[in-house]
Amino acid sequence: MKLCVLGSGSEGNSSLVFTESSALLVDAGFAAKTIETRLESIQFDPARLSAILVSHAHSDHIRGAEVLSRRYSLPVYMTAGTAENGPVKLRGNGHARIIAADESFTVGDITVLPFAIPHDISEPVAFLLESGGRRALQITDIGYVTVSIIEKLRQAHLAVVESNHDEELLGIGPYPWHLKDRIAGRGGHISNDECVEMLKQAGGNGLRQVVFAHLSKTNNREELVRLGAESLYADTPVKFEIASQNMPGKILEV
Ligand SMILES: [Zn+2]
Ligand SMILES: [Zn+2]
Repeated sequence: MKLCVLGSGSEGNSSLVFTESSALLVDAGFAAKTIETRLESIQFDPARLSAILVSHAHSDHIRGAEVLSRRYSLPVYMTAGTAENGPVKLRGNGHARIIAADESFTVGDITVLPFAIPHDISEPVAFLLESGGRRALQITDIGYVTVSIIEKLRQAHLAVVESNHDEELLGIGPYPWHLKDRIAGRGGHISNDECVEMLKQAGGNGLRQVVFAHLSKTNNREELVRLGAESLYADTPVKFEIASQNMPGKILEV
């Protein structure tokens, strides 16, 4: 199984996970055309897609799902809460597939386990994906770290994790206080320090690759994320990279 983060941040999120025979988009938070262009830039034919998974109904995760589902006739797996809060057209276009947290399903040779995460919208989930005994996890948009998230991290060989903001930059930054409170609060996003702490708690397992993702353009700096990651993973077998908002990362073997 391979994974490529096509782009990540508050302006859009989407990752491609694929095997020889199946391919999933985990979130489709860019315009359909942008996702197609990025897939083509990594020499991946969008016609190979088998399905779309949507973690929650914020537009930076769902924006392109409706158009892509029609264009390539793809099922879109999402919770009832996501369907209710997402675009009306997506609900009604015949491609919606309602899933529930902790009930796994398969798409070709990939088994998908959705599980609940804390975020300020109805029924958000993250996904643990498994194929041939290898497991990849994507957890972005989490207000705080739960026991269930740590458990899933301990099972993953590769994880895409949120490292949204630097607490100090958020504090002194230009956002109004209600927005700062939302981001730092229990329904918002985890900070760089919280992300490092989460990975520390989950450590000592099979995790070998980490992609730091959903970095805030305003309240974070790539260097800060890199420093945290280096403090954690220097002299360990774990490799890491930082996802970009604007271009796909490497194609990683899970
Ligand atoms: Zn988001
Ligand atoms: Zn969100």
